[in-house]
Amino acid sequence: MASIQLKNVTKSYGKGKQALQVIHGVNADVADREFIVIVGPSGCGKSTLLRMVAGLEEISGGEISIGGRVVNDLEPAERDIAMVFQNYALYPHMSVFNNMAYGLKIKKMPVAEIKTRVDKAAAILELGHLLDRTPRQLSGGQRQRVAMGRAIVREPQVFLFDEPLSNLDAKLRAQTRLEIQKLHRELGITALFVTHDQVEAMTLAERMIVMNAGVMEQFGTPEEVYHRP
Ligand code: ADP
Ligand code: ADP
Repeated sequence: MASIQLKNVTKSYGKGKQALQVIHGVNADVADREFIVIVGPSGCGKSTLLRMVAGLEEISGGEISIGGRVVNDLEPAERDIAMVFQNYALYPHMSVFNNMAYGLKIKKMPVAEIKTRVDKAAAILELGHLLDRTPRQLSGGQRQRVAMGRAIVREPQVFLFDEPLSNLDAKLRAQTRLEIQKLHRELGITALFVTHDQVEAMTLAERMIVMNAGVMEQFGTPEEVYHRP
């Protein structure tokens, strides 16, 4: 796992007179193993910020470091991050085991190591008895756990969550939130978790970054953010 530093990070779309600045000088120091929620209304820049950390969006200004290494010019694959989205496409013809193992096979990891990692992730996610099934034979919640398993087996330094709960019904949302908390507790993951839902933010965050119109308005614990006199 690793710390994350954002130093005066900016983002503009377009060039010259037409340029539209959507992120204005964000500064944040995220500790190793810390769970950070980025919260704010639609269009405030949450996804853009996350996508810049992931390497899916170019950084216009400033610097992003992961584990003390500046990642501005690194490809997503070189950043040692895993991203969990709201719609995870599993491979329908592959078993649960192979869905989780696929990214490691591509990297030519030894089969014994792959099996160790998949078994460990499956135990945490309670998928051990489902490894031979295909996604079609799973419930929605189980499918989602497979998608999280795929991220876990890579043992990334940082987990990036982009509104992973927003398409779920209330029951599954609560259940998945507990699973994410368990991952944080048991694996000590460093996480940036994006949501527009304040309740979700308060429940999950150790500290939260409150965004509004591209500006980081607050950065603190839920108590500091919500009970400010
Ligand atoms: P959020 O995730 O908080 O809903 P986004 O990060 O998606 O917000 O968007 C922040 C702002 O950047 C919005 O005003 C959005 O319209 C704008 N934006 C996002 N992507 C692009 C793009 N590719 N080109 C131009 N503007 C964009
Ligand atoms: P492919 O579809 O790529 O041919 P296989 O189904 O042959 O993959 O499995 C690839 C590797 O994953 C093999 O080493 C196999 O033993 C292992 N594997 C597949 N399913 C399981 C499982 N349910 N439990 C443990 N190992 C598995």
